Amino acid sequence: MSTTTATPPVKNRLLFINGAWVPSSSGKTIAVENPATEETIAEVASGSRDDCRRAIDAAAEAFKTWMKSTPYDRAKVLKKTADLMRERVDALARTMTMEQGKPVAEAKGEVLHSADTFEWFAEEGKRAYGQVIPPSNAAKRHLTIKHPVGVVGAIGPWNFPITLQARKIAPALAAGCTIVCKPASQTPLSLIGVFECLIDAGLPPGVANLVIGPASEIADEFMTHPAVRKISFTGSTEVGKKLMKQAADQVKRLSLELGGHAPFIVFPDADPEVVAKAAVLGKFRNNGQVCISPSRFFVHKDVAKKFTEAAVAEAEKLKLGNGLDEGVVVGPMFEKKAMDATLALIQDATGKGAKCLTGGKRSTQFAKGYFFQPTVLGGLSADAKILTDEPFAPVMPILDFSKLDDVIAAANNTKYGLAAYVFTNDLTIAWRMAEGLEAGIIGVNDAVPATPQCPFGGMKESGMGRELAHEGLEAYLETKYVSIGLRG
Ligand code: NAP
Repeated sequence: MSTTTATPPVKNRLLFINGAWVPSSSGKTIAVENPATEETIAEVASGSRDDCRRAIDAAAEAFKTWMKSTPYDRAKVLKKTADLMRERVDALARTMTMEQGKPVAEAKGEVLHSADTFEWFAEEGKRAYGQVIPPSNAAKRHLTIKHPVGVVGAIGPWNFPITLQARKIAPALAAGCTIVCKPASQTPLSLIGVFECLIDAGLPPGVANLVIGPASEIADEFMTHPAVRKISFTGSTEVGKKLMKQAADQVKRLSLELGGHAPFIVFPDADPEVVAKAAVLGKFRNNGQVCISPSRFFVHKDVAKKFTEAAVAEAEKLKLGNGLDEGVVVGPMFEKKAMDATLALIQDATGKGAKCLTGGKRSTQFAKGYFFQPTVLGGLSADAKILTDEPFAPVMPILDFSKLDDVIAAANNTKYGLAAYVFTNDLTIAWRMAEGLEAGIIGVNDAVPATPQCPFGGMKESGMGRELAHEGLEAYLETKYVSIGLRG
């Protein structure tokens, strides 16, 4: 298909509140831009605080019945949603590419991973088991039962517009909660497409609502409306900290999936050329705009030269272009601001002595769009900002090391603790690294570890709580303890 199609294929451009597509009460709209062409591709309703309040009220009303439905009934809606997402994968992926920039093959992968998430939680909701606990008093019996938390406010970022909301909607609904979702303002369209699937799958009114609009107004309403019992946020550490402070007033439950700065560590027994290929694919996926993107490469000094040469050669092979075009592996960056920040990090590093081994600037191949050359840096000094600030950029800074304990210390020398990667065939090294690294997700010889059945989340300032897996369901459940006194 042509890259000039200006209209993304999802139908709606409105808010979804209490089972109906509605315009914003303020009449305002948000322009959605295609980062490959810099064209406006849609005007979407921009909800106000009042719209958000109505959505929360609808979710609170719907909670009364949804919480009493069985997990088997809830699973039917979630499973059907997964099936519809798979049927509509092409349209959803094209929409995502047009609003976010990632190549359509990557966008399809995101839609299918999200469909798997819906299906996995459809099943896991049936396993919200309590416990029977042996008493110490013969005249008592003790047990725990699980209870849905209540209405959830879900806020997500632009880099994975479907996946990161699916990780909230699917477990919340499976647990018996109802939800109000706020997507990133610049990427609302693909989530609208997911709501179209939920509706066609039989979603009852009020159970899931979609409010697109200004973050501060919507988040304030989430934080002050007493019916909202939990906020699930994915985004920057900076905003996560603000939400933590605001949540204190009403002791709202919080799940926070925040920034990362993942080390990628290569030991000398691993094949440096094979690992360099995996490293480049992992690094330049979505232009490095991924919370678990490897962003500090520590390579053992015995294989550093071979690894670096192979990484440069692989990075230079990557086809840059509009993500709708055949064969494109790297699309545009998401916005101009991100490109400018990338350039500033590179200039800071080279100003402090680093060498730019390939890339290093905006691509001049294209008249429009935020295209940045895949970049590899070597010879970094310890004070380069790219080693401390989360880069969220298509830049691969390579450093070398010689001792295991030193590389653990260097890898942990960050406020973040989301993901870490280790490449080795030595089981002892792998185990020592898995125990020593301060990260919630550790890939050993695996550069793409995320999957619905395994827990995803960070240590330190990378967040609180876990999404996916059974932990991701527990995040939407309270444990109630019941003690029963027996007669006679
Ligand atoms: P962001 O600026 O924090 O925005 C994320 C979401 O929060 C958007 O919906 C945004 O709305 C909203 N928001 C902005 N200011 C807010 C406020 N004061 N109160 C409440 N909500 C607010 O982050 P981003 O730049 O979109 O995303 C990149 C960041 O997300 C990176 O740090 C990345 O590492 C992190 N991330 C983490 C994970 C994870 O699973 N740990 C996954 C992906 C991304 P508007 O769009 O309307 O401004």
